[in-house]
Amino acid sequence: MAYDKIVVPQDGQKITIQGDKLKVPDHPILAFIEGDGIGPDITRASLRIWDAAVQAAYGGQRKVAWMEIYAGEKASRLYSGNYMPEETFDALREFIVGIKGPLTTPIGGGFRSLNVTLRQVLDLYACVRPIRWYQGVPSPVKHPEDVNIVIFRENTEDVYVGIEYEAGTPENEKLAKFLREEMGATFFEGAGLGVKPISAFGSKRLVRKAIQHALNEGFDSVTLVHKGNIQKFTEGAFRKWGYEVAKEEFGDVTITEDELWSQYNGKQPKGKIVIKDRIADIMFQLALLRPQEFGVLAAPNLNGDYLSDALAAEVGGLGIAPGANIADFVALFEATHGTAPKYTNQDKVNPGSLLFSGCMMLDYIGWREASGLIHRAFEKTVLQKVVTYDFARQMEGATEVKTSEFADAIIQNL
Ligand code: NAP
Repeated sequence: MAYDKIVVPQDGQKITIQGDKLKVPDHPILAFIEGDGIGPDITRASLRIWDAAVQAAYGGQRKVAWMEIYAGEKASRLYSGNYMPEETFDALREFIVGIKGPLTTPIGGGFRSLNVTLRQVLDLYACVRPIRWYQGVPSPVKHPEDVNIVIFRENTEDVYVGIEYEAGTPENEKLAKFLREEMGATFFEGAGLGVKPISAFGSKRLVRKAIQHALNEGFDSVTLVHKGNIQKFTEGAFRKWGYEVAKEEFGDVTITEDELWSQYNGKQPKGKIVIKDRIADIMFQLALLRPQEFGVLAAPNLNGDYLSDALAAEVGGLGIAPGANIADFVALFEATHGTAPKYTNQDKVNPGSLLFSGCMMLDYIGWREASGLIHRAFEKTVLQKVVTYDFARQMEGATEVKTSEFADAIIQNL
């Protein structure tokens, strides 16, 4: 496909889909969006570390051909005010795998959010957030090493679809009248109204991905996190459909928590993943008190949103929490924090979130040796107390360095 501003690297090849797998050449083209605010600083630093790790792991036999694509302020400059050019979507569809820095949402630009637009247009239905602790990283809990959880948050429905009607508008009054007079609903006069759609299709494809991940990565449980005790036909239905997909499609490798006790006396049989569920409020408590009891969590959009940030805080905060938005194949990895505009071009912030999102991307294409090197080098660097400002202010005797110097230190430690 021909592009206007995007330059496809000549020394790389396309990742393709074969059957139900990705076929990754030795010089794959990976797309990146630099991002706004601190985006350029953390992208520059991370690109150097990813390249150095791939070189260290494969000695030149494998190499990424990076292809810049555009969104946000840089896109607006290049494409005459267009913050989200169509060819950015085309490139992600064609090249399948990419990574992005944080994006500012233009005020009055016609977008609710650039990030939400990317997720919706590409139907990136699973938001994946692995939460684990790295030695040396300051944490507010006593045993951050007990946290090793991957959250699968549904990304396309729930209250995020934006079906909302402001109090006092004719649309609101029309809906309120219908609900009261035809559906027998009761609620206060002048209430704002919102709709929360949760479907079998959306729930099942998310839980399917969560179970597949647990199987591939050796987690022993998948927990459905819901508020079904109150919202029976949305959150409760998510729980029901989650159990259904486990039974229908993974019946030979999963058991429910009830079966664990009724048939196996509480002793998990080898080769079986336990499917369980927890009500969202108790899940927050358990994530603090007994995180070691959880592996993969699957949640509707809003629960997953809250949980992702709360759990990230347990292991060192948003500055290093990675994430990805994934469809059946197309995957866009991303820094989970925003653009932190006050630090723009200061070469100051922690590149960890984008860096580890890149590690997820390397895992996604099967280059685990390279991502493993980065995890270990990051840990070593933090243990040497060479850190960016955010960690330095929480650590005694730390040497505070710039983003680029932190990248140098990690590369030294690869
Ligand atoms: P933010 O950019 O995430 O920044 C909030 C605070 O988090 C920063 O002031 C900083 O804390 C800390 N922080 C963020 N990134 C860090 C890093 N890499 N290293 C160390 N500390 C980091 O949130 P915001 O200020 O609410 O949002 C700013 C803009 O970002 C908005 O336009 C918003 O729409 C956008 N946004 C984009 C995304 C995305 O693209 N995925 C996500 C969220 C928000 P201290 O002040 O304590 O140093």
